[in-house]
Amino acid sequence: MSKEKKHLVIIGGGFAGLNLLRKIDKSKYRVTVIDRNNFHSFPPLFYQVASAGIDPAGISYPLRREVHHYMKDGVRFNLGTVKSIDTENQRIVTDNEVIDYDLAVIAAGTTNNFFGIENLQHLVYTLKSTGEALTLRNEVLRRLEMASIEPDDNKRREMLRFVVVGGGPTGVEIAGAIGEMKRYIIDREYPRIDKKEISITLIEGSDRLLGTMNQKSSELALKYLNNLMVDVEFGKIMKSYDGTTIECGDGSQFTSSLVIWTAGVTTVSFDFDGQQPEYGRGRRIVVDSFNRVKGINNVFALGDISIMTADPQFNEGHPQLAQVAIQQAKNLAKNLNKEKFESSFKYNDKGTMATVGRNRAVVDLKHVCFGGFWAWMTWMFIHLISILGARNRLTVLINWIWSYFTYGSSLRMLFEASKMPDNTPQNKQ
Ligand SMILES: Cc1cc2nc3c(=O)[nH]c(=O)nc-3n(C[C@H](O)[C@H](O)[C@H](O)COP(=O)(O)OP(=O)(O)OC[C@H]3O[C@@H](n4cnc5c(N)ncnc54)[C@H](O)[C@@H]3O)c2cc1C
Repeated sequence: MSKEKKHLVIIGGGFAGLNLLRKIDKSKYRVTVIDRNNFHSFPPLFYQVASAGIDPAGISYPLRREVHHYMKDGVRFNLGTVKSIDTENQRIVTDNEVIDYDLAVIAAGTTNNFFGIENLQHLVYTLKSTGEALTLRNEVLRRLEMASIEPDDNKRREMLRFVVVGGGPTGVEIAGAIGEMKRYIIDREYPRIDKKEISITLIEGSDRLLGTMNQKSSELALKYLNNLMVDVEFGKIMKSYDGTTIECGDGSQFTSSLVIWTAGVTTVSFDFDGQQPEYGRGRRIVVDSFNRVKGINNVFALGDISIMTADPQFNEGHPQLAQVAIQQAKNLAKNLNKEKFESSFKYNDKGTMATVGRNRAVVDLKHVCFGGFWAWMTWMFIHLISILGARNRLTVLINWIWSYFTYGSSLRMLFEASKMPDNTPQNKQ
């Protein structure tokens, strides 16, 4: 390894981290990528993993495969969860080791925000990682199996009552996917369940779905969800949940033992020793127009974890979207490669979209907003080309085509991890 190259450590191999790795000049920087997982994930399709629509491996890409391309340039991948950053001594502490850096880039994204509601993280299902999506998938499938053999009407209905909290894209997409299962799968595969006994309710605090999108998209999403037999309740802000009853701010209540929480995110947080960052809205790390962390030398932040208010069109910060993370990473690579901070970041907004079951989606582009079948085809195309790895794209495409025509059940198998042997680190925790 070359001694004169600066050591650039990237925390997080998500959209921002991976794009930075790809674009950075490896003849100038010795790069180490740290991630708590040894794979890159594709969050926009977590809801399809959770509803058994696709295989988790299809939306995951091994970070070691990526790093392998640049091994001769000294690029390394280290598995670890970053705990703290010592900005004085330029060291990153993970749960496994301490790594020195010349430049550090924080691209660790976001996690669930439970807004301080007591015990919520222990009671609700979430969709912020592949693992969380798999947990939800297994629970939904387990309930369908149990309901098929449950003779007591009340217990059966209780098992089949699903509540989704949050009417943003993730909430709409997962509610639509469960609605789709109710509509198309139950009669075919679980003939002993009367699908009228399955209830899906989406509760949203504001007066419309997809609040960041065009009004027309919100109305279409509501119509599509209603077609899939999803009840949508507006103006409901969840205040508490005890595992059975949801209490809302307006005094209304909902009963469910399977609540899917999609209502908030906050940034992944670390301890900082020495210089401290400034935090903005949503506890995002404040950066300047070059993604340099304000108040800390040689540290940068990219993507969801950062907030930049210098872009004139987005003076309250950019939306937390994959395109922002990708474009920021490319811009930072450009500046670092030139070793001059000349090019400030300007977001090129390519639009947003959400899907609601098969054949239906909503797409907001700069000058046009549309829904229905062609929006769904656009949604599928964009997501397919964005998945990493040709093999993954092919697998997901085959899965989609196969299940479109056959409603195939091969992904609705319940695989549970063994508890044996009981001396593994996971079982000891
Ligand atoms: C369910 C869901 C659906 C979404 N749908 C869309 C969509 O349709 N379109 C869109 O544009 N955006 C969507 N988003 C948002 C999009 O995924 C994010 O904007 C994007 O992933 C941000 O990229 P990032 O690189 O900042 O963070 P991420 O892609 O989240 O990457 C962060 C990486 O850091 C790693 N990490 C986290 N903490 C640590 C730690 N302490 N130590 C080491 N590693 C760590 C993680 O494992 C991960 O690999 C969705 C998000 C979710 C959760």
